[in-house]
Amino acid sequence: MSAYRDFLEPNGQYAATFGDKGSLAIRPTKKLAIVTCMDARVNVFAQLGIREGEAHIIRNAGGIAKDALRSIIISQRLLGTREIAVFHHTGCGMRTFSSPELRSLIKESDPANSALSAVDDIDFLEFTDLEQSVRDDVQFLRENSLVLPETKVSGWVYEVETGTIRQIV
Ligand SMILES: [Zn+2]
Repeated sequence: MSAYRDFLEPNGQYAATFGDKGSLAIRPTKKLAIVTCMDARVNVFAQLGIREGEAHIIRNAGGIAKDALRSIIISQRLLGTREIAVFHHTGCGMRTFSSPELRSLIKESDPANSALSAVDDIDFLEFTDLEQSVRDDVQFLRENSLVLPETKVSGWVYEVETGTIRQIV
């Protein structure tokens, strides 16, 4: 059994109540990009009251700004967003390992496969202090010359234990 077998029935229900969303513009109406973690417990739309057409949701492991930069540039320069909200969250897997540990784990999974040494070139961008990681990412965006200088950048923590958010920056 594959998880994708469960797609069609709920999609049928979604499409049946799709309404006029087919005419939504490509540019996000809130001019907002949200950077957040890929964590399966994070549901940006429900947790922040965001609807289709309103914001870009850029997700990666940790919600790391550096990793999101490619998408942020496209979001700003081609699709008109002017605000970025960075969300990291409690219980994040990015605080449970180090890049050297993960590289070793991958290479030791198949020692005869020299191609796995490609992982030595990947910085997994893990962090230890949750709130500091949010401050660091906001600073990274504010100082990055490829991010438009008029961008409003805020930084947040989402708590997976309670469903609440709090602003850090
Ligand atoms: Zn996470």
